[in-house]
Amino acid sequence: MPDVSADPDYVKSHPDLRSELAVPLRRGERLLGVLDAASTQLAAFTGDDILLAESLAEAIALALDNARLYAEIRRYAADLGALYTFARATSRSLVLEDVLSETLHAALTSLDFDAGLICLADPNNGHLYLAAERGLPQGTSDQIWEEGMAEALCTYVHERGDAVVVGDIEQETPAASELKKAVPLAVGEMREVGMRAYSGISLLHQERSLGALSLFARQPRVLSAEDRGLQVAIGRQIATAVTNAQLFQTIADQRSRLQALIESNRDGIILVGMNHRMLVFNAPALDSLHLTGQPEEWFNRPIQDALDAMRSHVPVVVRAILDEIGRTEEGDDSPGEGEWEVPPRAIHWLNLPVMADTSPVGRLWVLRDVTEERILERMREDLVHAMVHDLRNPLASMSGALSFLNDSVAELLSPGERELWEIAQKSTKGMLELVKKILEISRLESRQIPLDHTLISLTDLVAGVLESQLPLAVDKGLHLESDIDPGLSPAWADVGYIERVLTNLVGNAVKFTPTGGVIRVSAKTDTTDRTRLLVSVSDTGSGIPPEIQDRLFQRFIVGQQEGRGSGLGLAFCKMAIEAHGERIWVEDTSERGTTFTFSLPLPPALES
Ligand code: ADP
Repeated sequence: MPDVSADPDYVKSHPDLRSELAVPLRRGERLLGVLDAASTQLAAFTGDDILLAESLAEAIALALDNARLYAEIRRYAADLGALYTFARATSRSLVLEDVLSETLHAALTSLDFDAGLICLADPNNGHLYLAAERGLPQGTSDQIWEEGMAEALCTYVHERGDAVVVGDIEQETPAASELKKAVPLAVGEMREVGMRAYSGISLLHQERSLGALSLFARQPRVLSAEDRGLQVAIGRQIATAVTNAQLFQTIADQRSRLQALIESNRDGIILVGMNHRMLVFNAPALDSLHLTGQPEEWFNRPIQDALDAMRSHVPVVVRAILDEIGRTEEGDDSPGEGEWEVPPRAIHWLNLPVMADTSPVGRLWVLRDVTEERILERMREDLVHAMVHDLRNPLASMSGALSFLNDSVAELLSPGERELWEIAQKSTKGMLELVKKILEISRLESRQIPLDHTLISLTDLVAGVLESQLPLAVDKGLHLESDIDPGLSPAWADVGYIERVLTNLVGNAVKFTPTGGVIRVSAKTDTTDRTRLLVSVSDTGSGIPPEIQDRLFQRFIVGQQEGRGSGLGLAFCKMAIEAHGERIWVEDTSERGTTFTFSLPLPPALES
C-alpha cells in the first residue's frame, strides 16, 4: 500500500505512517501470520522490497512450522515417556493397594502435580471410597474426605465419565466456572489447602467408570488438549491395572476358599490334570493311600510318583488306578467307582471327569473311608446269615415230615383240607429254597466254596439250558435261539454255576417277555481282550424298570412286573460270575428289550 491515506478503511497504528507492506506467512493452505513493514515515507517499498519480503515470509513460515513440529515431537516423546513410566509402575504388582499407591505416585510425577487421590467405586454397592492418597498436607485427606469435599470432586468426575481439567480455579474459564458451580465446597477446600490447578480423570475400563483420579497443583498452569489426552490415557491405564488387581484378588480369594474346602473335607481328594500331574491333593488322600509327607509336597507332581510310592504296600490300588487311567485314555470318560482294601481300611473310590465349560480339565478322585460301614454291614449280614442258617434245619424237617405224611394222611382229608395241605407243602418247600439260595449267595460272597473249573462247550451248555426252558417258552409262544459259532473255544469255569447263571437269565427273559417275543443266547470271543469270552442273553421284553436299574444286582431287588420272584436271581448271577473273577452287566435295556452280558475266561493254555 504505497499511500495509506488513499484507503478509507485504513487504521493507522502510528500518525506518521505513510506506506505499508504486509505479506502473509503461509504453509500450504495454512496461514501462520503476517510479516509487516511500515514507513513514514510515501511509496517507500519498491518491487524488489516486495520480492524480498515475500521470500523472507516464506523462510519465516518454514522456520515457524519446523519449530512447531519440533515442539510437537518433543511433547509426543515426553508423553510416551510418561506413559511408559506409568505402564511400568502399574504392572509392578497385582496387590490392589500397591498398584494404587504406585500409579498415584507415577501420575503425580509424570504429570507434574503436587497431590492426588484415587477413589474407587465399591463393586457391591457402587459407593465411592478413598483408595489411595498422596501429597496432601498431613491429616487433610481424611478430613476433606470426611467433610465430603474429595468425595464430591471424585463423584463429579466419576459420574461424568470424563476428564475435568481446570488450570487455575481463580480464573473464570468455562471449566473453572462449571467446577465451582458443581462442587463449590470442594473448590473452597482446595483453596484452603493452597491448591490452584485441578485435574480430575475418570478411570474408564470398557467405557465404564471404576472411580476417579484427582490431581492438585499449587501453581496455576496452562493445560492443553494434549495434556488432557495424556491424562485420559493414564486414567484408562489405571482402570486396567485396577481391574487386573481386582480380578487377581477375586481369583486368589476363590482359590483360598476352595483350598480351605478341600483341606477341611473328610474325604480324600486328588485332582489329576490332563498332564497326569496332581493339581489338588489333601491330607485325607495321603492318609487313605498310606503316603508320607505333606499334601503340599505332592502338589503338581506326576501321578506316577504316587504310584511308585504305593507299589510295595498297596499293589491292588496301583493296579486299579492304572486300569482306570488306561480306560480313560482309550476314550471312555464315564465315571468309575469301586472299593479298595488298604489294610486295615476299606476305601470307596470315585473317579469323575472334570470339565471347564466343554473342555476336560482332568479326573477327580474322591476317596472315602468306609471301614466302619463295612464292619457294620458285615455284622448285620452275619446276624441275618445266622438266623437264616438256623431256619434251614427246622424248615427241612417240616418239609420232610409233610412229604412223609402226605401218603398216609392224604385219603383221610376232605378236598378242602387237601388243598390246605398242598399249600402248606408248597410254601414250606418255597421257604426252604429261599433259605438255601440266601445261604449259597452268602457262601459265594465270602468265597467259601471252591470252584471246580472244567472245559465248557458253550454250544452244548446253552442248548441244554434252552431245552429246559422250552416248555415254559412254548406255553408263552416265545421263540428261543442260540447264536454260537461252532468253532468257538471252550470256556474254563465251574459248569454247575455257569449253567445256573444262564438258567436264571434265560428264565427271567422268558418271564418278562410277552407272547410272540424272541430270546437269543449268543457267545463270542471278546474283541478287546482275546483271553475272554462274552456270553449274552437278549430278549424282546419291555426292559428293566428304570427305578431298579442302578441296584439290579443287589439282593431282594425286584421290579413291579407280573411274574417277579424273590429278587435273588441276579444277585446269585453276580456272585457266581465274580467268584470266577469275571463281570456281568446290562448291555442294553429299553422298551424294545434287554441284553445281559457276562464274561468268562478261556482255559489257561488257550490264553494268548
Ligand atoms: P426275580 O426274577 O426273582 O424277580 P432277579 O434278581 O432275577 O429277581 O431280577 C430282579 C428284577 O429285575 C426282576 O424282578 C425284574 O423286575 C428285573 N428283570 C430281570 N431280568 C429282566 C428282563 N430280562 N427283563 C425285564 N426285567 C428284568
